[in-house]
Amino acid sequence: MCGIVGYIGNQKAAPILLAGLTKLEYRGYDSAGIAVMENGEIKVQKDKGRVSNLYDIKEIDDLKGTIGIAHTRWATHGVPSKVNSHPHMDCKDEFAVVHNGIIENYIELKKELENEGYNFKSETDTEVIPNLINYYYSKDNNNDELRIVRAVKLATERLIGSFAIEVLSKENPDIMVVVRKDSPLVIGKGVKENYIASDIPAILSYTKDFYLLENFEFAMLSRNSIRFFDKDLKEFKKKANTITWNAMDADKNGYDDYMLKEIHEQPTAIRETIGTRVNKGICKFDELGFTKEYLSSLNQIYLIACGTAMHAGLAVKSTIERMSKVHVEVDIASEFRYRDPLVNEKTLCIFITQSGETADTIAALKLCKEKNAKTIAVTNVIGSSITREADFAIYTHAGPEIAVASTKAYTSQITLLVLLSIYFAQVLESVDKNELQQIIKEMLDLPNKVEKILKNTKKLKEIAKMMFKEKDVFYMGRGIDYATAQEASLKLKEISYIHSESYAAGELKHGTIALIEKGVNVIGIITDDNLVKKTVSNIEEIITRGAITTMIINEEIAKTLNTQIFTNVITVPATNQYLSSIVTVVPLQLLAYYIAKEKGLDVDKPRNLAKSVTVE
Ligand code: GLU
Repeated sequence: MCGIVGYIGNQKAAPILLAGLTKLEYRGYDSAGIAVMENGEIKVQKDKGRVSNLYDIKEIDDLKGTIGIAHTRWATHGVPSKVNSHPHMDCKDEFAVVHNGIIENYIELKKELENEGYNFKSETDTEVIPNLINYYYSKDNNNDELRIVRAVKLATERLIGSFAIEVLSKENPDIMVVVRKDSPLVIGKGVKENYIASDIPAILSYTKDFYLLENFEFAMLSRNSIRFFDKDLKEFKKKANTITWNAMDADKNGYDDYMLKEIHEQPTAIRETIGTRVNKGICKFDELGFTKEYLSSLNQIYLIACGTAMHAGLAVKSTIERMSKVHVEVDIASEFRYRDPLVNEKTLCIFITQSGETADTIAALKLCKEKNAKTIAVTNVIGSSITREADFAIYTHAGPEIAVASTKAYTSQITLLVLLSIYFAQVLESVDKNELQQIIKEMLDLPNKVEKILKNTKKLKEIAKMMFKEKDVFYMGRGIDYATAQEASLKLKEISYIHSESYAAGELKHGTIALIEKGVNVIGIITDDNLVKKTVSNIEEIITRGAITTMIINEEIAKTLNTQIFTNVITVPATNQYLSSIVTVVPLQLLAYYIAKEKGLDVDKPRNLAKSVTVE
């Protein structure tokens, strides 16, 4: 999510660290900071805001140290503020750490350390790491050169979640230790100097030789050496890779565009979003603290949003309704606020916005507050405007989304909202426990299923080649598949500029079927066992009229159908119906992407669109 940089050599570290952070700024930009080792002291400078703010700090200019670590933050725990910025030091000022990722069990660890006499300054999950390192370092009586690596190993073994960390130690002023699990980190090898970064572009101008650190591999760096240790601290030799990319490719971590990169980040985004919420089969939303009495008193739940976020609302409407047995309505923020909606203290209003800055959504929230409803913001950005207005804010952990067309934010929003529905059902005791366990189990498997789809793109590329000259495309499905159809249609419009419509499959014959003639492209989605027959009948109606059909079907359903009747079939792994949108939207995001690429368009910055719409 965020960006980290490190330098150990003979040059002044600070300018190299700042240049690296600037290149990584797309990975996080709510605060930034550096720590430099100077005369046996660790000097930290950090602040809220962009990396460019650091250039204005005079003390950074004066730093002469030649070893340092740096961070640009994308807050996951604790608002963007100076004290929450990285690097973080332990309470005894012995170790400095920058961290990329999320520590899911930080509350337990914090309590444990507090009992040992450690204290904390920030609200971050990260601050437990330097304190844990201090704890294990101080318990180790063997003062050899590997003492610091042992302390980092023991500390990181305690962490649940994801991390890439860099560690500076006051007692070991000429080395740096790094390790990662599920967050990226690369080591650049120079001559009498070495570099660290979250991804290659930050340091590509200094070296082309990189070590790609695997999960739970530890590296101990000095100016002249890089030593690698496995998870049991057995030392091993690692081969460096020589990179042949140019700096532009590398900016997107090897992907052609941010959109493609973000599509591929979905397994991680989903995993991180679930990670903080599910514990021993229970969905935890402690910050909401809703009682059975409160949830039973509700007469209505509103999901209010714009664009793709509104489609995430549509994808979970029936899930929340079925689980909580409360009527759920989804509304477009700009419509909702002008229609004098029936909202009162018995209404729960949930607002979905990736950026947390969407003007219409924020205005709708203010209106609901005036009418005494409780409000929850679902957003990806900690400390964004909507989180300051809402009674509660709950977060997706998708990391920064740069491409204008939303992908990973959408699937993360659905993930979080399904978790929220399970929480409602648990509080209300409205759904059988085993059924809830089954859904949670399926959820935990979602990242693997999405991964599988991402590996299988050949057919989608072929279909894109056949479709990119089309003027109109139709999408259809029933139930949740209809919600997915709406999002898929929007993706195509946004980035390929092809006109498209989405329909509830049964609705087509009430008018739109008049547009179907020989050669018209129709994309159908079927994932709901109960609706297969009905949807197939609708598709047959359009096949009869000469349509070219591309079907997205789950593997189980595909086995029961005569798929020969369709022009193209893309199968996706089967999952619980409530989660199906997360799986089926992925090939459709890719299809829209490949079509736009065939047309030679700039997918990251489609015409007329802005990433966050802060005007009404
Ligand atoms: N979880 C850490 C925080 O909120 C690190 C976030 C990041 O990756 O930037 O400070």
